[in-house]
Amino acid sequence: MSQWLQGTVLEHKLWHPTLFSLRIETPAFDFKPGQFVRLGVMQNNTLVHRAYSIVNPAGTNYIECFITAVTEGEVSPLIRDLAVGDHIQVSQPAAGFFTLEGISNADSLWMMGTGTGLGPYLSMLSSAEVWQRFKRVVLVHAVRHHQDLAYQDTMAALTDKYGERFIYQPVVSREDLPNALRGRIPALITNGTLEKQVGISIDKNAQIMLCGNPAMILDTRTLLAERGLALNMRRKPGHVTIEQYWQQ
Ligand SMILES: Cc1cc2nc3c(=O)[nH]c(=O)nc-3n(C[C@H](O)[C@H](O)[C@H](O)COP(=O)(O)OP(=O)(O)OC[C@H]3O[C@@H](n4cnc5c(N)ncnc54)[C@H](O)[C@@H]3O)c2cc1C
Repeated sequence: MSQWLQGTVLEHKLWHPTLFSLRIETPAFDFKPGQFVRLGVMQNNTLVHRAYSIVNPAGTNYIECFITAVTEGEVSPLIRDLAVGDHIQVSQPAAGFFTLEGISNADSLWMMGTGTGLGPYLSMLSSAEVWQRFKRVVLVHAVRHHQDLAYQDTMAALTDKYGERFIYQPVVSREDLPNALRGRIPALITNGTLEKQVGISIDKNAQIMLCGNPAMILDTRTLLAERGLALNMRRKPGHVTIEQYWQQ
């Protein structure tokens, strides 16, 4: 059964007014990279809460989440407005199946995420497992504007550490940016631009993870199905694993 731990905000990083990361001190707890917790705050004497992926590695005495404050959203703006030292509730245990556990070994692992759908990949990338099981890891982060490309220091550190085994490919839809592709992930797969830029094919030698915006997930998994790349099911291994952040 789900329980609540009281956490304390340790760090609050505002990337821009509607995008932030929160580091929360909690007693240590187990989770698998890719899982999520629910974060809760009190509003009118009621605990209101939402699911957020864990960004940090396992084994720390804090958790970090990367969050969009949705304009008109009920809970995310309340979390954005917390300050260092404030209390926040963190659900236990961590939940979810968007982990490396159900994914077969492959030559390449593609991690494709929109916006804050980057978060779970950061936790996986800091684990040894991903580097033991896949020769190359391609992280495709799709956003609207350059200000949304958070965690650039982490990208640089991963590139330094893993060299050619790690490929970071930003995709920006609303402006041209050096080193980024312009557009949306499904269109860049359809016209071949993404694979050409990265230099790796999306085929049966790959595993593909999709996280974030439901439209991106639906369009991409439809395209991948046309290439014979089906969803990973518990009893029937495939090539595609998804985590959808909201309903379309
Ligand atoms: C398993 C899981 C993990 C999640 N992890 C994260 C995470 O790590 N970071 C994160 O920012 N969100 C994440 N979400 C979404 C999060 O749980 C909330 O739905 C979101 O913060 C909006 O809550 P709200 O109460 O402010 O908005 P609500 O009042 O509940 O309104 C919901 C509406 O907000 C929009 N919306 C929801 N999430 C987003 C988003 N991320 N970006 C843009 N629009 C959105 C959708 O249109 C949705 O219908 C996750 C959701 C799930 C199911």
